[in-house]
Amino acid sequence: MINPNIHDFAAYDFWLKPLGILYVGAFLKRLGFEVHLIDTLNRHDKDLKRFVKVPKDKKYGTGKFPSRVIEKPKIVKSIPRKFKEYGAPPEYLEWKMKEIGNVDIVMVTSTMTYWYHGVWETIRRIKKITDSPVILGGIYTQIIPQHARKSPADFVFPTNRLELLPKLLNDILDLHLKNIDIDWFEDLDPAYELYKSIGYLVFTSSIGCPFRCTYCITPRMWKFKRRTPEKVVESILRYKDIFDVRDIVFFDDAFLVGKGHTAKLLKLIANEKINTRFHLPNGIHARLVDEEIANLLKEANFKTIYLGYETSGDLQKKTGGKVFDKDLIRAVDFLKRAGFTKDEIRAYVLVNLPGQKLQDAIRAVEFLKELDIGISVNEYTPIPGTPEWNELIKSGKIDPDTDPLLLDNSILPYWWNGGMSKEEVEYIKSIVRS
Ligand code: SF4
Repeated sequence: MINPNIHDFAAYDFWLKPLGILYVGAFLKRLGFEVHLIDTLNRHDKDLKRFVKVPKDKKYGTGKFPSRVIEKPKIVKSIPRKFKEYGAPPEYLEWKMKEIGNVDIVMVTSTMTYWYHGVWETIRRIKKITDSPVILGGIYTQIIPQHARKSPADFVFPTNRLELLPKLLNDILDLHLKNIDIDWFEDLDPAYELYKSIGYLVFTSSIGCPFRCTYCITPRMWKFKRRTPEKVVESILRYKDIFDVRDIVFFDDAFLVGKGHTAKLLKLIANEKINTRFHLPNGIHARLVDEEIANLLKEANFKTIYLGYETSGDLQKKTGGKVFDKDLIRAVDFLKRAGFTKDEIRAYVLVNLPGQKLQDAIRAVEFLKELDIGISVNEYTPIPGTPEWNELIKSGKIDPDTDPLLLDNSILPYWWNGGMSKEEVEYIKSIVRS
């Protein structure tokens, strides 16, 4: 199983771990396979240092990826920035594959649709090293399967329904595997034991989200589901024991949905007195933060709390109504009273959302400044399959056949006249910095 390199103008290891393929690994092990993992984005792999200088960790195990400038794809030639490959160099992949030896199948995962260049290039490299069939899966293949089918992979697995995997493997390898009757999210741990060394652990105690924000793909990919809190904690203890990491991250899209569940999980974590810092980088729902939750987050030693705010004004309601200004004010008040400092609380502002005026984004930043918390700017990217995407197609603002690379949020303002200009986005960022 291979987590490929990223090709982009910018990338940062903000606790990126390929959870999807780690679950696939656990599932394959249950099926009886011997599984190996090569994660080209694991900055903490000790072998990596033999091939490239690895930048030192920044805060809480995050950090810059090793990178190298590569030729820009034709379609982005005019963008005045360096295009880079992030992650391990090609020699590392080759060495790792040779060390593992012959395999029956290579599986490659993917995440962002606009990162397909790195995925395709990794597959080309794999094919120079082995004749084994390559299966491509992951989020990119689920969002735009027709595009993924043009990749150099031999097979595409464009679904998160793991129960369909045995049939594909039977067809390719001429096996007679029977499906295993498990609920993979409840019964399996993401197979971190496939790593030799790691700098932090990422988990998710739920998948999906019951909200339906118009710009977000999550509710269109998953039915919302939570894992039993006891099992989440067992999983944490199991891998904390192996790797002794100092940072554990929850990447849930809806960590606070189902208060009883969240409260129980936080109490269990606090009771275990795990010597670890916890982080919530994925924008929790401000409306669901109350006094009890804020206190429990503190007791469980959470150090990073990101709140999803996104935008000010009418767009809050139009895009799904997940949060309003008053929810943020309340949440920040509870969190500060529980003892969180202004450096531990941040909120996301989504910039360049269709219909968002420059003034809306500026007001959002000013509102958060008044709350005296950190601000992180997220640039909007149109995601096929979301209501916002369908609207953009209907109104002719986006061509449905646009190259996914051009939809990269850092590239979009250079060419798209359906949203803000690069100067406007930079202006908003400069107010945040000031
Ligand atoms: S609340 Fe977050 S995860 Fe849920 S639909 Fe909205 S943006 Fe997506």
